[in-house]
Amino acid sequence: MVKVLLPQGSPATETETIDPEPWMDQSECNIDNAHLFASTVPEEISQAKSLCAVCPVALECLDYALRIEKGYKTRFNIFGGLTGKERRKLAKLLEGN
Ligand code: SF4
Repeated sequence: MVKVLLPQGSPATETETIDPEPWMDQSECNIDNAHLFASTVPEEISQAKSLCAVCPVALECLDYALRIEKGYKTRFNIFGGLTGKERRKLAKLLEGN
């Protein structure tokens, strides 16, 4: 089990316990660059997306985000190379809405 810090205003509680998945060990994001993935600064968002673009587990990450965010209207941070807003659009397309 891992405690993750969710951004302020997240629909979940401030911290949430998740079970790490095996692919998470191979991610390009880590404690040193985690701030980029929660940033609202355009340059930092671009840096995060650049890391996602070369991440070997980007598809697993995106699939994970879509699964855990199911039912949430608001999505935060960058997962799988997509912002929360971009994932919301993708989820709507996948759901046929
Ligand atoms: S795709 Fe991006 S957010 Fe997901 S694990 Fe890789 S670097 Fe991290």
